[in-house]
Amino acid sequence: MGMGKTGTACAQFLTRKKVKVVVMDNRVKPPGLSTLQQNLPQVSCLTGRFDAEQLAQATEIIISPGISQRESALALAQASGVPIISEIELFARYMNAPVVAITGSNGKSTVTTLVGEMAKQAGWQVQVGGNLGTPAIELLSDPAPDLYVLELSSFQLETTYSLNPKAAVVLNISEDHMDRYQQLEEYIFAKQRIYRGDGVVVINADDPRVVALLPPNRRSLSFSLQAQQGDFRVAQHEGELYLVRVQETVITPLLPTKAVKLPGSMMRANILAALALGEAVGLPLLPRLEAIQSFAGLPHRCVWVANKQGIDWYNDSKGTNVGATIAAIQNLDKPEHVILIAGGEGKGADFTPLAAAVSQHCRACVLIGRDAPLIAAVIGKSVPVYHAQSMIAAVIQAATLASPGDAVLLSPACASFDMFNNYEHRGQVFETAVHQLADD
Ligand code: ADP
Repeated sequence: MGMGKTGTACAQFLTRKKVKVVVMDNRVKPPGLSTLQQNLPQVSCLTGRFDAEQLAQATEIIISPGISQRESALALAQASGVPIISEIELFARYMNAPVVAITGSNGKSTVTTLVGEMAKQAGWQVQVGGNLGTPAIELLSDPAPDLYVLELSSFQLETTYSLNPKAAVVLNISEDHMDRYQQLEEYIFAKQRIYRGDGVVVINADDPRVVALLPPNRRSLSFSLQAQQGDFRVAQHEGELYLVRVQETVITPLLPTKAVKLPGSMMRANILAALALGEAVGLPLLPRLEAIQSFAGLPHRCVWVANKQGIDWYNDSKGTNVGATIAAIQNLDKPEHVILIAGGEGKGADFTPLAAAVSQHCRACVLIGRDAPLIAAVIGKSVPVYHAQSMIAAVIQAATLASPGDAVLLSPACASFDMFNNYEHRGQVFETAVHQLADD
C-alpha cells in the first residue's frame, strides 16, 4: 500500500525475488506510478482507491509509512488475519550485516548521518538510509556491507517485528504526529519497538520518557548533557568543557566542545548519542572523534544563514514539532534576544509547551501559515506577536523588530505543506529572503 518511494522500492525488490506484487494507492496520480509502469510492467498498479477485497486476499500487506493501520480498507484484511508489515520488516528478513537503528522525535537525521560518517572515517563499508534518503530495502547489498545505519520513524516501527539492531536509540520523545496517534502513549509505544531484540540499548538519561523504555537485563549505554550522569556526558576538564566517557569512576576526556563544529546543547546531545552508538557496534574511538570534528551538520537544522546589520539569522525549517522548536530556541542560548518565526500546519499538536521557552528567550514572534492563530493563543500573552502572509513578509517584519545582537530564528514547530512543497522549500525561501536584506 502506497506508491511513493517506499512502495516502489518494495515492489522492485519483491519482483526481483519473483513475488507477485500488487501496488495500490488512493491517490489518482501517485508519485511512483510512472516508474512502476515503465520499469515493472509485470506489477499490477491500482490507483484512486484501496481495494479492500484484494487486500483481504493478499498473503501479506506491506504498508507505507504515510498510511495509517486504521485505514478503513484494511479492516477486512485485518479481520482475515492477513499480516501487515513495514518495509523495515521486509529489510529485517534479508539483512546481512549489523544494524544501528535510530529513532526519536528529533535529531534522527543528524545522528544517522553522523554515525554513517564515523563508520566511513573508520574505513568501514556502510549503508545509510531508511526514513532519511534511500529506503532501507534498497540498501541491501551483496556482498554485505560492514554496517547499516537506519533512521526509523514511528510509522515505520509500528509494523516492524523482527528487526534486531546491534545498537538502537530513542533520542528523545516529545509530542509529534498527533494527527495520526490518538494518544502520546501510542506514539511512544511505536518508538519503543526499536529496542526489540538483544542488541545494545542507547538511552537519553535526560529524558524520563526514554529512560522508562529501558528493557530489563539488556546491555545499555546512556548519554546526558549533565555532568552527573551518563556513560557519555559533558563535563569540565582542565577548565574547559569536554565531551567525556565515564566508566565506573574513570572519566576519559574525549574532545573539547570547542573542537566541535555543530554549536549548541541540542547538537551536543546528538553527538553524544552517536558516540555511544558507535562504541556499541565496535567503531574505534579515533575515527569517531575525527568524524565529529569535521561534521558541519545538515541543511535546514539550526543553520546560521547570515549576519545582517548585526543580527544573526538561523534556518531551522526542519523544526517541525514543538519539541524541536523549543530545543532550537534554547540551542541559540540568547535569552531574550530571539525573534522567532513560526507557524504552518500543526499536525494536531498542543502548542502550550512552547510558551515557557518563548517567554524566556524571545523578544517577539512572527507567525505564518494555517495554525498561526493556535500558536498566537498560547504565546500571545508573553511576547508581542505579529502575523505575516508570506515568508518574505515574515522576514521583513522580523528585520524591523530585531536589534543588533539579536538572532532571528525560523523554527516553525509545524509542517510546511500549507504554504510550501516541503521543509526544504520553506527553508530555501527563507534563506533567499534573508540574503536579499540589506547588509548594513
Ligand atoms: P529528525 O530526522 O528527527 O527530524 P533532524 O536531525 O532532521 O531530526 O532535526 C530536525 C529538527 O529537530 C532540527 O531542525 C532541530 O530543530 C531539532 N533537533 C535536532 N536535534 C535535536 C535534539 N537532540 N533534541 C531536540 N531537538 C532536536
